[in-house]
Amino acid sequence: MNYPNLLSPLDLGFTTLRNRVIMGSMHTGMEDRAKDTDRLAEYFAERARGGVGLIITGGYAPNRTGWLLPFAAQLLSSTEARRHRRITGAVHDGGAKILLQILHAGRYAYHPFSASASSIKAPINPFRPRKLSSKGVQDTIDDFVRCALLAREAGYDGVEIMGSEGYLLNQFLAPRTNKRTDSWGGTPVKRRRFPVEIVRRTRAAVGSDFVICYRMSLADYVEDGQTWDEILALAAEIEAAGATIINTGIGWHEARVPTIVTSVPANAFVDISSALAEHVGIPVVASNRINMPAAAEQILAETHVKLISMARPLLSDPDWVQKAQADHADEINTCIACNQACLDHVFVHKTVSCLLNPRAGRETTLVLGPTRAARSVAVVGAGPAGLAAAVNAGARGHRVTLFDANTFIGGQFDMARRIPGKEEFTETIRYYAAMLDKYGVTQRLGVRVAAEQLGEFDDVVLATGVTPRMPSIPGIDHPKVLSYPEAIYGTRPIGRRVAVIGAGGIGFDVSELLVTDQSPTLNLKEWKAEWGALDSHEAPQARGALATPIPAPPVREVYLLQRSKGAQGKGLGKTTGWVHRASLKAKGVQQLSGVNYERIDDAGLHISFGSDHTRPQILDVDNVIVCAGQEPVRDLEDALRRAAIDPHIIGGAALAAELDAKRAIRQGTELAARL
Ligand code: FAD
Ligand code: NAP
Ligand code: SF4
Repeated sequence: MNYPNLLSPLDLGFTTLRNRVIMGSMHTGMEDRAKDTDRLAEYFAERARGGVGLIITGGYAPNRTGWLLPFAAQLLSSTEARRHRRITGAVHDGGAKILLQILHAGRYAYHPFSASASSIKAPINPFRPRKLSSKGVQDTIDDFVRCALLAREAGYDGVEIMGSEGYLLNQFLAPRTNKRTDSWGGTPVKRRRFPVEIVRRTRAAVGSDFVICYRMSLADYVEDGQTWDEILALAAEIEAAGATIINTGIGWHEARVPTIVTSVPANAFVDISSALAEHVGIPVVASNRINMPAAAEQILAETHVKLISMARPLLSDPDWVQKAQADHADEINTCIACNQACLDHVFVHKTVSCLLNPRAGRETTLVLGPTRAARSVAVVGAGPAGLAAAVNAGARGHRVTLFDANTFIGGQFDMARRIPGKEEFTETIRYYAAMLDKYGVTQRLGVRVAAEQLGEFDDVVLATGVTPRMPSIPGIDHPKVLSYPEAIYGTRPIGRRVAVIGAGGIGFDVSELLVTDQSPTLNLKEWKAEWGALDSHEAPQARGALATPIPAPPVREVYLLQRSKGAQGKGLGKTTGWVHRASLKAKGVQQLSGVNYERIDDAGLHISFGSDHTRPQILDVDNVIVCAGQEPVRDLEDALRRAAIDPHIIGGAALAAELDAKRAIRQGTELAARL
């Protein structure tokens, strides 16, 4: 059998999971509205049919105080529980098991009625929580128990009690947020009483044949967080209180250690989960930055953990498990941990989807069934937009020919994957290469196609993307000026002192490339040292598993410039931007805003500031790299229209402003669904 550990069942005594893959909890936004129940059911059902062993829903509050947002997901009544039967039924029909996650947001609740262990405001939330009274604590325990009973009524196989990520239970556990001196605080034993009581009383209420998974923070990564010794003691008590499984949580939402973004090395926190698993008798789940079967198999074979949790990888590919079973890991659409369509959507209250798989969350409306009338389709451009169009049109049964001027596929994404910390974007290109082959797409690479070559096709798709904008600064043609593709592909040597014009996503990425020593690439130990993240089990007394960060020395002196005033990187992703900003700051990149570009000459880049061009300054740099946005490439359009061909135009070719791969892939997929 392929992946014998990963695909083997796990007997929990009273029930059996068909394999070791858990779809971890992820708030989708669909939980919050009753009208989205069928949509949510189909979203989970597609993953169940795809082979996952156990699904954990997004968080449902056990009472109104625990709402994440006003009127967010809750499970408080039998009426609500009845609605959930559509979800649990659909998942069970698909052969999987499903747990409801009970989440009390505590001080992360984004509303004025929030409550916590103490009245201490979270740095990431404007609302100050009230301190729960002793009665309030008891009532909250009752609410958790009632919620678990309702989950059983709704047909769930169990519940996950959310005790990590800095939510309410975690707030009771850490001296950072629990300053109580009553029987719920003051000592580690009293601080852990609240979650332990919740598990104990839930077990007593639901009986022995119902899964209780407890999600535990194994490294808080905040000051005054828990110590490892406290975490071990909590795990022992949670087990004794009746938990079936312990799931891993890493880092509070306010932590300044990245835990899930692309630049976090693969399997970064598995050792901590394994160390905990050595101390308890119930199965422990590893999570965070695990996204491919070989890695998951190796973890199960070589460590003490028994289950693997993946949330985002099951968004990007609902058939992940089936593909592993069929030994087609090369066909897995691997989550690249970009957060752009999942977590970043959560923070702006948009329904979660996936950059790579725009069908996620739209299973009932974006349907890609077989076509009844196969057509011949030319796709010009093998960037993300063209690849998505070609693969999905091919999958539907159209005869597709894909052209690209480059001798490789990927378009601008081929540059993205060369940025330190974005190496995993290579997986996307691997996925598309496999799917082009699978669906018999004819590839004409190294061909800059002309309009007259396209007359024979029923449909022509222009996915010709974008080209870098070169602003009209005096001296822009000076030999020290490079475009960002020249810098990324290393077509010309770059000196020690560099100015980067444009502080958008690409300016940030190019700056990261310039300051990073790429040989050898950072290993896990060095990455943790950079961010001051300890392996909690190796520093059992360290509160919050934090150390002083030791950034790797920058290999160049870099100025990052923009014309607009104010902080740079405002347009970066909500959940990823802070990581990019912190990384460049740690590496000494000098960020200058409100800049006028006066000229470039042998002396360097001449700049001034503000509308009155004051404070002239010469940045005596060896090179200037231009990352000043892009223009669409549409040179084929006129000729095609003259030849009476009406092309479909998608991705950057349609609009360069605010383009990203999310839009490009979505447009390619939606077009393929319409063809
Ligand atoms: P392109 O990627 O530009 O592809 C167009 C293709 O068309 C090219 O391969 C080109 O060779 C081909 N072509 C053009 N004319 C012809 C012709 N006449 N004949 C044949 N072929 C032709 N986006 C994100 O969402 N997240 C990120 O983290 C991210 N990071 C990035 C980092 C870097 C360094 C860069 C450069 C980009 C990044 N992007 C990121 C942006 C993302 O790559 C682009 O938005 C995306 O590639 C646009 O897709 P597209 O298919 O529209 O165009
Ligand atoms: P961008 O985000 O639009 O940034 C362009 C930058 O160039 C801005 O800082 C802009 O700032 C500057 N600029 C624009 N016109 C200029 C001119 N004429 N002269 C001088 N400066 C000029 O575009 P990008 O960085 O090229 O990125 C392209 C797309 O790729 C983005 O939309 C982004 O979503 C995507 N991307 C995403 C990520 C990610 O991590 N999510 C990473 C890379 C790229 P001023 O006008 O203030 O000078
Ligand atoms: Fe993964 Fe990005 Fe898709 Fe989220 S949007 S599931 S991080 S690939």
